[in-house]
Amino acid sequence: MTMEYKIKYIKKTKVSKDAWDLHFIKPKGFVYKPGQFIEANLMQKHPDERGQKRWFTLSSSPTEETLDITTRRLPKHSSFKDVLFKLKQGDTLAIKGPDGSFTLPKSNIKLTWIAGGIGITPFRSQIKYMVDKKLFDYDIVMFHGNRTLEDNVCRELIEEYKSKNDAFKYVEVLSEEIPKDWMGETGYIDENIIKKHLVDIDKRHFYISGPEPMVDAMKEKLTSLKIDDTRIHQDWFPGYTDMF
Ligand SMILES: Cc1cc2nc3c(=O)[nH]c(=O)nc-3n(C[C@H](O)[C@H](O)[C@H](O)COP(=O)(O)OP(=O)(O)OC[C@H]3O[C@@H](n4cnc5c(N)ncnc54)[C@H](O)[C@@H]3O)c2cc1C
Repeated sequence: MTMEYKIKYIKKTKVSKDAWDLHFIKPKGFVYKPGQFIEANLMQKHPDERGQKRWFTLSSSPTEETLDITTRRLPKHSSFKDVLFKLKQGDTLAIKGPDGSFTLPKSNIKLTWIAGGIGITPFRSQIKYMVDKKLFDYDIVMFHGNRTLEDNVCRELIEEYKSKNDAFKYVEVLSEEIPKDWMGETGYIDENIIKKHLVDIDKRHFYISGPEPMVDAMKEKLTSLKIDDTRIHQDWFPGYTDMF
């Protein structure tokens, strides 16, 4: 049964050039798995054609005190984002959930995570959960595409997990403003980058999260690498029309 809540806004924290963590009070009895999402309904006096509802991954981990979402506010944005980013402490947001099966499997399954920009949110929740629960036995190769270095919304947490789990490999792929001394990958995540960093491609499960065009493009690339559908798990963020 889907539950409905009104969650109270606390504050926001800037986490990249144009993205913020929005923190809310976690209602009593609200239980969720890292990687799940909620549906948010926000009253607006003058809603644009995109309307009042959006879906957001809970980027916080259940081990954290607050319920957080992480989202972007672009110069040209919807009426929903306009009102969302004007919330004041104590204002409420109506939500339904949690929902979704883009969650952490058992650690005996080898994983490949592919995130496009803000699509890192379910993985952010899962990494924080693994850090807090001391789950350092997961074998994960993570590909993360961002426009620029400054667009990474959780670099410190990723570094922390990397330092504690030798079987966590992080491949950052930048498409713009490549620093001169950049040692990572460039462009968009593609078949060549995936093959280069995966020695055991036929044994892994693939979790893809990001803007819809990026997730669809990645699914095609994985299919061309003969990854069977049962090993591909997807989390689409509609609304964003660019790759990141
Ligand atoms: C399961 C699920 C989980 C999700 N998790 C997240 C998450 O963790 N974080 C997250 O940020 N999003 C997430 N999303 C997507 C989210 O629901 C929004 O669709 C997304 O944030 C874009 O918001 P927006 O539509 O308000 O557009 P905006 O963010 O305001 O803008 C997005 C793009 O649309 C353009 N645009 C804006 N308004 C209009 C308009 N009226 N007409 C035409 N173009 C316009 C903008 O210029 C911009 O390019 C998730 C979606 C799903 C289904």
